[in-house]
Amino acid sequence: ARDGGRAAVEGLRAADLRHYLHPFTDSRALAAEGGTRIITRAHGPYIWDAEGRKTLDAMAGLWCVNVGYGRQELAAAAHEQMLELPYYNSFFKTTTPPTVRLAERLAALTPEGLNHVFFADSGSEANDTIVRMVRHYWALEGQPERRVIISREYAYHGSTMVAASLSGSHMHSQGGLPLPDFDHIAPPYWYGRGRDMDPAAFGRSAAQALEAKILELGAGRVAAFIGEPIQGSGGMIIPPDTYWPEIQRICREYDILLIVDEVITGFGRTGRWFASEHYDLKADLMSLAKGLSSGYIPISAVMVGDRVAHTLIEKGGEFFHGFTYSGHPVACAVALENLRIIEAEDLVGNAAHTGIYLQGRLQELADHPLVGEVRGIGLLGAIELVQDKERGEFFSPQGEVGTRCRDHCFQNGLVMRAVRDTMIISPPLIFTPAHVDELMEKARLALDLTA
Ligand code: PLP
Repeated sequence: ARDGGRAAVEGLRAADLRHYLHPFTDSRALAAEGGTRIITRAHGPYIWDAEGRKTLDAMAGLWCVNVGYGRQELAAAAHEQMLELPYYNSFFKTTTPPTVRLAERLAALTPEGLNHVFFADSGSEANDTIVRMVRHYWALEGQPERRVIISREYAYHGSTMVAASLSGSHMHSQGGLPLPDFDHIAPPYWYGRGRDMDPAAFGRSAAQALEAKILELGAGRVAAFIGEPIQGSGGMIIPPDTYWPEIQRICREYDILLIVDEVITGFGRTGRWFASEHYDLKADLMSLAKGLSSGYIPISAVMVGDRVAHTLIEKGGEFFHGFTYSGHPVACAVALENLRIIEAEDLVGNAAHTGIYLQGRLQELADHPLVGEVRGIGLLGAIELVQDKERGEFFSPQGEVGTRCRDHCFQNGLVMRAVRDTMIISPPLIFTPAHVDELMEKARLALDLTA
């Protein structure tokens, strides 16, 4: 389709409609709109579609292409590893060199105390693994009745039955979810839920919802609390600074494990290697994916803290869980090369510096009649669209206005994502101030066309 002209593109689009069920898509609506846009190539922070249109990808794919597109080194790492050893498993007393090297690297890179790694293929699988591990842990500790895992509304932890049960209720409309022993509290979403309080007081009160939930369920039944340091797909919810200290206090007080989902926020996104560093989070378990390989190849990791690892190793026997591709040598080789690039090019530092420029320029949008609030950290940004700017009144919860704005962006050469009516920015970490300027120009145009 890249060079095959209009007929080839139309052929692909028709075959797509006939045969491919897209994730998170209303297939009938897609057909009614004339089908999908086919992305054929990419370089740096840009993607091109089959019609040759160039678009600035301010979402880094799905928050994942941290090193940007077109990296020869990552292709070379995959090529070399495929020739050397394309596959071998880590079951039955074997493993491969890149698997061990990546485990060692991650233990050094992640916050203190996270010294063991379990590999999987996606963020969802990492979070599934964590749930099984947590229940196994409490059973080994002689408290098998600690089964409930508490998460938050608007959370997104993945799409398998377990990961969707951890996610907010927007994931529960189909398939009999959530499964038993998953419960939820409100998110620390100050702009959406807390403007009648000052942010610090709201942050504390949002965290205290965890304590209330533990007491409601009975402390002896609760196994763990899981949260993204900053909720991404739920609308870029940045908690007030008072939130995480209070959550950690409550976890300690009731002896609840803390699971931190850094699938989006890991590997430099917020201007630190991990967002946990901003909040001094001491996770018992951490899920990682996306930026681990910059999306070039599927891989995820569960970081296991010393407390849980010690029990698993000393008392555990066989942990009856794993995947054919856990610790896949090619995926691990690509991830290692990806981490080398992030470090060699100081992309974490770039996310911090260019992030300051992005956040400053985003503030300029605050004068736009549609914009209620802008917020962000590092190379993460959010623009809240509102119906009444003075009173901060939202449009309908269906998010039609956000969808319209997203479509205007796309038609004008920019990928921004809409979550309800919150526009989201999460570009590759190679973004420069010039890319930010291009983003701002296109974003303002899209806002003007939406208003
Ligand atoms: N956790 C978070 C915070 C995510 O944003 C996502 C995906 O967007 C997942 C988990 C699930 O990851 P995957 O889509 O790789 O299964």
